[in-house]
This record gives sequence, C-alpha cells and structure tokens, in this order.
Amino acid sequence: MNLHYYPRENDKKERWITLLSILLILAVIAMLIFLNWTRIQLSIKGYNKEERAFLLTLDKEELADYLNYDNAIDFSRWDSLENNRHYYNYELLSDTELKDKEIVDYIDTYYENYHEWFVAHGYQPKQIQMLLHRYTIKELAFLKEHTLTWKQIAPYIEINGCIIQDLPQYLQTKKEPQEAIMEISYPNIISQNKTSRIYYLENPEHPVLLIKNGFQVSTDYVPKNLVEVAIPNAPDNTNNKMRKDAAEALENMYQDALKKDLHLAVNSAYRSAKEQKIIYDQMFAIYDSVTASGLVSPPGFSEHQLGLSVDLTSQSVIDEEIPVFGYTKEYEWVSKHAHEYGFILRYPLNKTHITGASNEPWHFRFVGVEVATEIYEKGITLEEYTQQHGFDYPVSLKS
Ligand SMILES: [Zn+2]
Repeated sequence: MNLHYYPRENDKKERWITLLSILLILAVIAMLIFLNWTRIQLSIKGYNKEERAFLLTLDKEELADYLNYDNAIDFSRWDSLENNRHYYNYELLSDTELKDKEIVDYIDTYYENYHEWFVAHGYQPKQIQMLLHRYTIKELAFLKEHTLTWKQIAPYIEINGCIIQDLPQYLQTKKEPQEAIMEISYPNIISQNKTSRIYYLENPEHPVLLIKNGFQVSTDYVPKNLVEVAIPNAPDNTNNKMRKDAAEALENMYQDALKKDLHLAVNSAYRSAKEQKIIYDQMFAIYDSVTASGLVSPPGFSEHQLGLSVDLTSQSVIDEEIPVFGYTKEYEWVSKHAHEYGFILRYPLNKTHITGASNEPWHFRFVGVEVATEIYEKGITLEEYTQQHGFDYPVSLKS
C-alpha cells in the first residue's frame, strides 16, 4: 500500500506545482502586456523599434494622437536619418493645409538645410516648432540668409501683420515693433501710397476688418447669420441681408430715425463676390479703369461681402423728391448719429486720398459702438484707426 501511497502523493504535489507555474507565467505575461500595452499598440500599427522608442518619449497627449491614427504614418523616407524630431514635426504640421507629401518635403528640407543653423543661433526647440508651424521654407531661408537671431525677431513675429521679408527694415527703423510693421509693411493702408502687394485676411468674421483694394478676403467667404433687414427697401434692391448684429443695429437706427420723421431705406447691403463681380465688370465697361476702380471694389475686396455694410437711401430719394441721399435730412441725421448704433460713414468726402474711394455719403459700415464712437469722435477713417491700433486679426502677404 505504501508503495502506492507515496507516488500518488508526489503526483498530486507535482500537478499543483505545474498549475501554479502556469498561473505564474500567465500572470507575468499579463503584467508584461499591461506594462507594454502602448508599445504593443504601436507595433500593431506598424511602427518599428526605433520609431516606437521615439514615440514613447512624447508626452501623453502627443502619444495619444499617434495611437488614434489607423495605421502608422509612413516614415520610411526618414528611416536612414537620425533626427527623431521629424516624426514630431509631422504631427505638428498635420493640422495645416499642407498635404502629406508636402509636409515630408518641408521637414526634410528644413532638417537638411536649416535646423543646425537655427540651433546655433539661439532658437530653442519650442521656438523652432512655432516657426515650422507658421512659416514657409522660403521664409525660414530668409531668416538664415539675413542672420536674424531669435532675440531680434521675437518682438515682431508675435504682432499681427508681421512680414518676415520686412524684418531687416523693421530693425533698421528702431521704432516700436507695431509702428515699424505698419510703416514698413502697410504704407498702402493709405490708398495714395501705392504698392503692388496684396494682403490676405483669413478671418473675415472680425467686425473691425479693414477690407479695401489690396486687402482681400476669400471670394468663397459667405458670412454666417445673414438675415433680412427689417426696414424698407429701395424698389429694385435685391440685396437686403446683413449679418445679424449689423442688421439689428440698423433696425434700431431706422426706428429712432423714424421717431424724428426721417425715413431710411436700404439700397444695397450684403453682396456675394459673384454679384460684386457683375457690378465690377459693368463699371469697367462704362468708365475708364481709374474712375471705375474708385467707384467699385473688385470681388473679394468689397465691404459688402462682409455683410457689415449698407448703402442707405431715403423715401424722399425713392420718390424722386430729392436727387441723391447726400442732400437729404436723413443723411444729415445719420452722419451725426450712426456711431451710436455702431456704424461709421466709411468713405467721407475729405478722406478720399486715404480710403481710395470717392465720396460715398450713402455707404455705412458696422464696426460696433465702441470703435465707431472712437472713429467718429476723432474724425478719422477705418484706415487711420487700423494704423493706430494695429491689426486685431491675422494678415498675411498673398504669395
Ligand atoms: Zn456701398
């Protein structure tokens, strides 16, 4: 019996040991999987060992972005290179308008030709990232070519409207950065100062946006919240919409004028770039180009496309009792009170050299009560206001 007993006891013991060992091994495996889960996910997505090692150095949020991609980003072209920041910069630029291939070309060119120079000239990683995100290779090349250090450019590049190519001139003026930028890069805010430059305004929603010849919004831009203005219309007007904020202000102005027995009406408010083009072409067919360009803006350059401007008229003009709006009691009242509702007389008679537009007593622009009041009280134009305050929105040179 004993002979049978001991082996059986041993058998049982052995089975326990085996079971425990298996459990232990499974636990170790589970632990390893747990500890390396991110690494495993990355490798399932197709990142190789070196790429994984780099990605794991990123902070949580950056890493999460990589984990959210369906597949690995194709970094094959960068395999032979040693600089891991390529990967990071790819991520950085993937929210720009650049296509994948353009991003890869851009980053390649940067590391081949410029990276060392920037590092040697005091640019920190954060600053380099910002430059890469914001500027073209041509602009980076310009910084290098002109040996501009971070310390030199920093006060300027944070100001809206700073143009890289103008940096050496800003530095020469020794003026306050904003003043230097306005003077050097935007002399043609004042229309009599001609340049061939065209500037692009990428935030057409901004209520104080300076749009005029040379300062353009996308011809595709259509304001949100366009509403029909609830005041009378000139008989043949089909453009009686404005942005809601401007429409409400105009309705209030209309009602208050009515209390004084003054009868305002809308001649033309929002116009799409397409409608603007039709008017533009008509004017050029009738007048010589100098006259025509003083009378009407090209598509993309007109205030009417913003939904913030209105050409006013009055019942007396509609009834042909008075020939033009500028001679009416309504004009007299509006020119003194429009600012209380947020409107400015945009193209005054004595400012045509600044605005570049001929006297337009009917054209009013909504900019909000605060700005309108300042412009009215100082007797200035939107151009001069912009010169004094700088751009409160991004402006870039159109390439
Ligand atoms: Zn107008």
